[in-house]
Amino acid sequence: MAGSFPFKSMRRSQKEVLDQVEAALAAKKKFIILEAPVGFGKSAIAASLCLYLESAYLLTSTKQLQDQYLADFEFRVVTGKSNFTCLVPTSSGKYLSCGKGRCEADWKLSECPHYLTFEQFDEHRRKLCDRDAKCERLKSGKLCPYYQQKWDAFEAPIMVANYPFLLTELHHTKDVKRRKLLVCDEAHDLEKQMVSSTTFSLSRSVIESYETGKGGSNGPSPILVDRGIEDASSWKANLLAAKQVLESFIDTYLHAPGMQERVAACNNTLESLNDFLDDLSAHPSNWIVNSVSRRLTLDGRQGGSVVEEVVFKPLQVGAYTSGLFESADIVLFMSATVFSKEVFCRTLGIAENDTYFIRVRKSTFPVENRRIYALNTARLSKATMEVSLEAIAQAVDKIMTHHAGERGVVHTTSYQQTRYIMGHVTEANKARLTTTEGASSRSALLRKHGSTDESVLISPSLYEGVDLKDDLSRFQVLVKVPFPDLSERRIKIKLERDPGWYDWQTALRLVQTYGRSIRSETDYAATYVLDSNFPSFLARHRDLFPEYFIEALGGE
Ligand code: SF4
Repeated sequence: MAGSFPFKSMRRSQKEVLDQVEAALAAKKKFIILEAPVGFGKSAIAASLCLYLESAYLLTSTKQLQDQYLADFEFRVVTGKSNFTCLVPTSSGKYLSCGKGRCEADWKLSECPHYLTFEQFDEHRRKLCDRDAKCERLKSGKLCPYYQQKWDAFEAPIMVANYPFLLTELHHTKDVKRRKLLVCDEAHDLEKQMVSSTTFSLSRSVIESYETGKGGSNGPSPILVDRGIEDASSWKANLLAAKQVLESFIDTYLHAPGMQERVAACNNTLESLNDFLDDLSAHPSNWIVNSVSRRLTLDGRQGGSVVEEVVFKPLQVGAYTSGLFESADIVLFMSATVFSKEVFCRTLGIAENDTYFIRVRKSTFPVENRRIYALNTARLSKATMEVSLEAIAQAVDKIMTHHAGERGVVHTTSYQQTRYIMGHVTEANKARLTTTEGASSRSALLRKHGSTDESVLISPSLYEGVDLKDDLSRFQVLVKVPFPDLSERRIKIKLERDPGWYDWQTALRLVQTYGRSIRSETDYAATYVLDSNFPSFLARHRDLFPEYFIEALGGE
């Protein structure tokens, strides 16, 4: 496999990992986990295995990572329908995105004069088609741009996509052919990806907008009669009534001029609702009502409130991962933060004895460049938050002043903390702070940060997926130990049933956050943790943390 390594030189540690990957293949393990710190070069390991097996799907969670695989290894990237324009105009002459094209509304795919199946496309590309073949009759000789890039990518031996793309394809098409390898990059995020791809929400405004002949103006829909949060299945009658509304809207407007966009959107909602109904029947105990938002009414109808939205989430994702993992013979998970093979396997519903865990414990980044200072400033819990925030804001202010002339980042766990800190530091430091709250574009905000001297970001959402390398961040402050948010019902129930999962999630986010500001061997940044809960959490769960994190603690 070393012969497939994509770069001229290979570090000894990378060779050792490739040897272990070979051992996992020899042991015929279905699942391989590679945990290695930032800067190790995990993507080169993934590329080696992809090139060696010559048949792979490679999934990433950010566009930045997809672009990197394209730039570094020239792997083919595939993207979703919303990025392409349908070649068939609507009855009013508009060109919509492929996500709302005629094939999403009133056509079967095969009716589109710009569509070829993968087999037809493949025959045409290999010049095996005859004169009667559909490719010869494509309207204006053009193939749908979405299917063009999709079939190109499906033909490539290595295809890069994001998680939602492959999950949607697996769920709604039969186009995903089994390959030798599936790589799940940023695998610590996989549970979140699975939850978000299966979450279903029923919203009053959406359903009312599809009520034919009612126009949504005659008060709340009976579809949203409040059934409470205890039992997801008790909402079945509401869901079936909603289904009727959607079906009736489609029946009424299927061929109506100017309605294609709405019919396509309604079709998508109906598809998600049908999927959810099927799954709720198959796995009733796995579904919870995560939240019900209510609006007070003046007339006392429904006991003084009506339901605005109800959100359903699955408790365990294991029921949904099997389809994904069956798309390949071998699955390689990669992340800087796996920590516990046992909790990882349990969370994703995979067998531990069919899993090979490769753990790179040491970071190649010098420890003096990435010290962690536990400042023990104040205990931050729900009960003590208000009194503790004053001390926290003072500590942030002091750290910012100490790092005058440098850029940095303050990681909070809520916008409440963010606003308090912004309002309680000195005017000079306040002028340096930029929050993500209300920002329409994260990339524009990061660009501005990079072009402003002394800029300091403050946010609860920058703990992953951002690369604050070199002087984009010379210091970072972790205000609070990032325990998962217990105001979310799914998390509360998971904590009750599986406390190990809750602690594991906390440790993952802590180390993910730590990794934002030190991105290479020559990079350096100081990390300050203010929450007094940090030392005790660390003492209780020391075995979860990687060696390179522990060795960075306790700097002067
Ligand atoms: S297959 Fe045809 S109708 Fe569907 S998005 Fe492509 S061009 Fe439009």
